[in-house]
Amino acid sequence: MDGDPGRGPGSRIAVLGSTGSIGKSTLDVIIASAGRFSCHLLAAHRSVGPLLEQAAAVRPRWVVVVDPEAASGIGPGALPSGTRLAVGPDALDELVRADEVDRVVSAIVGAAGLRSTWAAVEAGKTVALANKETLVMAGPLVMRLAKRTGARILPVDSEHSAIHQALCSGTAAEVRRIVLTASGGPFRTRSAETLPAVTPAEALKHPTWSMGPKITIDSATMMNKALELIEARWLFGVPAATLEVLVHPQSIVHSMVEFVDGSVLAQMSPPDMRLPIQYALSYPRRIAGPARRFDFTQPWALEFEPPDPQRFPAVRLGHEAAARGGTAGAVLNAANEEAVRGFLAGRMQFTDIAAVCGRLLEEHPFQEDPDLDEVRRLDAWARQEVAAWAST
Ligand code: NAD
Ligand code: MG
Repeated sequence: MDGDPGRGPGSRIAVLGSTGSIGKSTLDVIIASAGRFSCHLLAAHRSVGPLLEQAAAVRPRWVVVVDPEAASGIGPGALPSGTRLAVGPDALDELVRADEVDRVVSAIVGAAGLRSTWAAVEAGKTVALANKETLVMAGPLVMRLAKRTGARILPVDSEHSAIHQALCSGTAAEVRRIVLTASGGPFRTRSAETLPAVTPAEALKHPTWSMGPKITIDSATMMNKALELIEARWLFGVPAATLEVLVHPQSIVHSMVEFVDGSVLAQMSPPDMRLPIQYALSYPRRIAGPARRFDFTQPWALEFEPPDPQRFPAVRLGHEAAARGGTAGAVLNAANEEAVRGFLAGRMQFTDIAAVCGRLLEEHPFQEDPDLDEVRRLDAWARQEVAAWAST
């Protein structure tokens, strides 16, 4: 059952990854909704301090700390009255499935987000999906499960939210191309020779979006767009050849759909994740919210350019993995996650990230139609291979 977001009592939201960038923006949307949305559950990994502050502000029924060691420091009286504490990933999976949950915001970062998203889809929930890694790793399995349980997956990723909105203008057979826009990240105009030496501090400075560290590095390598191509392939059930990438430095046009008659529909808004988050919470309605708005009294311009495959080889890997399907997405995702970790820890160069991902994508024991265990096995294999590469 999904609470009707247009009328009270509002829908009850479970926010997974509430202390992160998307999680905090979700709480902004919930607080600004004046009761249309309420917080049923907040979950985070180990950032207990911020989690307790959020609990005091929105008074959820449940707070879940996934890391037991981090939870051990929470004393009696730390939570507001009426809020209970649960600990560990199993507790989270169980609470996500509860009848009291109307919508689940899946905003844990990385492969760690798969299991709780899977639990929500298995329980037939409406899922506002920020954790793109779930679809990158196991897109066909997750979409098949959603079909079976009646779960609805609504995108939070701004590109996919834009595409979701534009697709309302025609039928699936009328779609000719889907164009995902990309900011190009902080190194859009950097020369190829300087890229191996970029530092984590430089790569963490995104020109248009403020996001968690992992996706910020993914934006700098443009691996984020690779992951988004795969995400779009499964979410919208389109052939990989339908999908293109276009660099658009202003991050105003969030993506576009071209229909067979040549008409191109774009969704535009200032870069502010509160809008796609709210769209996924209020869909099929639209409601007023806290997201930034355009100021049309100022002059403005929009630019577009094709991505440079030499400096940003990750984009090609995304096209390749989206076309191959099977285990390709899981291997690319795990290799990238581990390589980003290696880069942030100073063990790998910036350009090693795409290089190691490309190599593992090529070398891995590809399977056409893996089950979840095989996905997990290849995820672990790719991580080991990256660790071995980093230590040579
Ligand atoms: P973040 O690093 O800011 O936050 C991550 C959250 O996940 C934190 O609350 C953390 O406690 C939690 N977490 C981490 N590991 C966990 C684990 N093992 N178990 C439970 N919780 C865990 O990340 P973010 O930038 O908010 O991104 C979250 C997801 O949303 C990612 O998949 C990202 O690709 C996607 N996304 C983010 C943005 C953005 O603007 N930040 C935009 C589009 C998509
Ligand atoms: Mg995006």
